[in-house]
Amino acid sequence: MVIERVTCSGCSLLCDDIIIKSDGLYIEEVIGACLKGKERFDLLTAKNRITKSQIKNNGELQKVTYIEAIERAIKIIKKSSKPLLYGFSTVSCEAQLKGIELARVINGFIDSNSIICQGKVLNTAKETGITLTTITEIINKMDLLILWGANAAESIPRLLNKILFSRGKFRMTGREIKTLVVIDPVKTASFGVMGVRDIALQIETGKDIELIRVLKEECCKTGSIPDTGVGGIDKDDLKRLLLHLTGAENGVILIGQGLLKTQEDGNVVKELLELVQLINVKQQKGRLSVFMLGGHYNMAGFDHVALSISGKNHSLQFSNNQLVETSETIVSKIDKEDFDCSIIVGTDPISHLPSRLSKKLMKKPLILVDNKQSATSYVADVTIPSAITGIECGGLVYRIDHIPIELKKLLSPPSNIHNDEEILIKLIEALKEA
Ligand code: SF4
Repeated sequence: MVIERVTCSGCSLLCDDIIIKSDGLYIEEVIGACLKGKERFDLLTAKNRITKSQIKNNGELQKVTYIEAIERAIKIIKKSSKPLLYGFSTVSCEAQLKGIELARVINGFIDSNSIICQGKVLNTAKETGITLTTITEIINKMDLLILWGANAAESIPRLLNKILFSRGKFRMTGREIKTLVVIDPVKTASFGVMGVRDIALQIETGKDIELIRVLKEECCKTGSIPDTGVGGIDKDDLKRLLLHLTGAENGVILIGQGLLKTQEDGNVVKELLELVQLINVKQQKGRLSVFMLGGHYNMAGFDHVALSISGKNHSLQFSNNQLVETSETIVSKIDKEDFDCSIIVGTDPISHLPSRLSKKLMKKPLILVDNKQSATSYVADVTIPSAITGIECGGLVYRIDHIPIELKKLLSPPSNIHNDEEILIKLIEALKEA
C-alpha cells in the first residue's frame, strides 16, 4: 500500500494537500478532500464512467473499439467544412494545445468554457485593466473579502476554508480580523459562514449594476446614496459597505457567475473593475483586488495556452490553416448555426448551454471526448472515452488564481483508454494520413 500526497483535480482550487492510499491499481482511501473532490477520485470506478468507445447507428448507441470510433470521427470531420471545437477546460494545457492544433488542421473554430464564464472578466479587463491577486496573498494579507454573485461554499468547496479561516504569514490573527461581505440576491450556502461582524447584503435580482454605479458616484462625491437605499439594500448598510471598501488595508472582490450577465444594458463587470480602480486611486493604505471564480480545474489554462500561441485568449477561427480575425464566439456560432459538426472535449454543453443552443448543437454530428456519461454523451454520434487527468495522466494546469501546477499520473487508465492529448494527436495524425 502506498500513501502519498497528491493534488485534487475536482475543481479549480487544485488542493495539493490530499492524501491517498493506493495499491497501485485502485485508490483505497482519500483523506482531506471535500465531497466534490472525493467524487473526482471515485470516478475511477463509478457507474457513470465511460470506459468504452461508442457510436450512434440508426439512433442506437453501439459499443465499438477505439480505432472504430476514431475512424467514424474522421469520417464526420472530413465531410465538414465548418467544424466547431468546444470545451477544453477540464483537460491539461498539453491537450488544449493539441485542440488548437486540430482546429488549425481542419480549419475550425475553437472556444473554451471560459468564454461563457470567467473569460468575460478577462475580456472586459482588456479595456479597463485589472488588479488580480493570488490565494497566498489573500491568506497572508487580506482583511476584507467580498463574495459578489458567488456561492463559493458550494462551487469551490474548500476555498473559504483556505482564504477565510487560515492564519496569514504577515498577520498574527486570522479569521477574527477578516471581514466577509456577501452580496447576492439568493441566500446561498455562503451566507452560512458569516460571523457577527460580517455583512450580508441580499440585493434584488439584476440590481448589482445600480449598486456599483452608486458606489462609484459616492467615491467621487459624498452624499449621493439615496435615502431609500439601492436594490433593496438600505442606506446604512451601503455606508458600511463603502467604509469597508475604502478603508480595508487589503481587500478582494471574488467575482462569481451572478455578475457575468448584462444588467440594464450595461456590462456589470466593466463597472465593477472601474469601481476597483477608482478606490485604488484614492486608497492610501493598501489595495483592492479582484479574483475570478471559474470552477473547472483548467479553465484558466485555455486562456494562457491560446494567448501564448495566438495572441488571443479565446474564440480562435482558422481558415487555410491560418488564424483569421473573427468577432464570433461559441454562442454566436451555434446560434447562427454557422457550423456543420462539433468536437466537444471534456464538457457537457447539452446540459449547460441554454436549450435554444443545445437543440441547435444536437442537430449536427457531434463527436465527444470525455470520461463520464452526460446529456452530451447520450446524443453524441461518436464518444471516445478519456483518461482522468490528475489521476490516470498528468499534465500542466492553471489554478483558479492563474498559478501553474503540474499534475501527476497516479494510476494507469484501463486498457484502451487514452488521455485527451493522445486522442487529439491520433485524430490529427489520422486526418493527415487520410
Ligand atoms: S475544493 Fe476542489 S480541489 Fe479542493 S478537494 Fe474540493 S474539489 Fe478538490
